[in-house]
Amino acid sequence: MGDPQQHKILLDEDEMPTRWYNVLADLPSPAPPVLHPGTGQPVGPEDLAPLFPMDLILQEVSTEQYVEIPPEVLDVYRLWRPSPLYRAHRLERALGTPARIYYKYEGVSPAGSHKPNTSVPQAFYNAKAGVRRLTTETGAGQWGTALAFACAQFDMECEIWQVRASYDQKPYRKIMMEVFGGTVHPSPSDLTEAGRTILARDPDSTGSLGIAISEAVEMAAQDPATNYALGSVLNHVLLHQTIIGEEALLQLAKIGETPDLLVGCTGGGSNFGGLAFPFLREKWAGRMSPTVRAVEPAACPSLTQGTYAYDFGDTLGMTPLMKMHTLGHDFVPDPIHAGGLRYHGMSPLISHLYETGEIEAVAKPQTECFAGGVLFARTEGIVPAPEPTHAIAAAVEEAQRCVETGEEKVILTALCGHGHLDLAAYDAYLAGDVTDHAFEDDDIQASVAEALSKLPTVV
Ligand SMILES: *Cc1c(COP(=O)(O)O)cnc(C)c1O
Repeated sequence: MGDPQQHKILLDEDEMPTRWYNVLADLPSPAPPVLHPGTGQPVGPEDLAPLFPMDLILQEVSTEQYVEIPPEVLDVYRLWRPSPLYRAHRLERALGTPARIYYKYEGVSPAGSHKPNTSVPQAFYNAKAGVRRLTTETGAGQWGTALAFACAQFDMECEIWQVRASYDQKPYRKIMMEVFGGTVHPSPSDLTEAGRTILARDPDSTGSLGIAISEAVEMAAQDPATNYALGSVLNHVLLHQTIIGEEALLQLAKIGETPDLLVGCTGGGSNFGGLAFPFLREKWAGRMSPTVRAVEPAACPSLTQGTYAYDFGDTLGMTPLMKMHTLGHDFVPDPIHAGGLRYHGMSPLISHLYETGEIEAVAKPQTECFAGGVLFARTEGIVPAPEPTHAIAAAVEEAQRCVETGEEKVILTALCGHGHLDLAAYDAYLAGDVTDHAFEDDDIQASVAEALSKLPTVV
């Protein structure tokens, strides 16, 4: 038995959880189905079969409470898992807070983020189904790196469309994907109909995740030996990420702690869901009662300012329709530094839990996030990726509140990636070149309504 004064709370390899937790089994109310844009009917497995292997399609709709992690996947996970849980003693001291702050560090993975938790099983199930090549999109470059690594593990090819803004800003990400064996194209590209359509409208387009998804989906749909892999948003992705929360539960139990507050950054919702879902299960079972808070960028506020409606997952309208918090499928966010949080939509599961009041959400401007990130680096010694600085900023805010109230709150967050390949963003921040952007509610709602008015009339 450890104690809460410990700095690092570790699990042995043989203590690593061997099942993922499927929150669909325990939802207090059912989530709305994914719809076929042509018929308005719920999509069936056959609709998704051109893009995904059957094992993943079944996981997408499964209501089994647990899914066994295949031995081949556990074997790759053991390269970096179980990941450490840290108590942020030095950050707490700097803040002078009575709160106890814990962070689950996912930056120890081969990609430097939580993304390999799902890229590895996705590559595995595709390889098992005889698929030879995966296509995907990447924003900040984290997902492309994670998928290229996973494809290398299972002897598959990997082709990646990287959002133009990040392709230009982050050459090291591209090189890392190529070292892992991936092929990288800037998006929009002239290799796809989708890319050519966007370039015809705007030859200087800096791209968006929605556009890159359209390109990768188009390529996969054309070739039976090629499938598509998505790094966030979908149920099976969040399922795979629950290894984070399951480990954190075991680690906190070792030192006799229960969290009062979970905070996590949300782009598509996967690291946040992965951390939070096992804790929500415990909460619904009456064993703890943490507040669960999503943190998103003020410049891409899908939960706090978006509309809860059926929308496409991509810009060109090639995916099924998902009921989610959305800024409209043609929304192109400002090129803020947290590239992984620049997505117009939000996981349908996270959106549903937000609508039903199971989780909260706040939006943070990027200067406050970078200030949190720099404080974290100077105290804890890890330079966080720009995305989790959103969660850090929210944790710092709560810890400062505890200074006033004297509450000894236990705060848990996922430090979902390191920022070693994002140093240019810190350089800009330190030079005073990072600015904040926020939206007027009226403006954003008008632009979402405009985008949604172009949807097929089935919804
Ligand atoms: C991809 C990414 C995100 C955003 O994706 P989620 O699905 O919301 O987790 C956040 N942080 C890092 C480090 C990422 O790589």
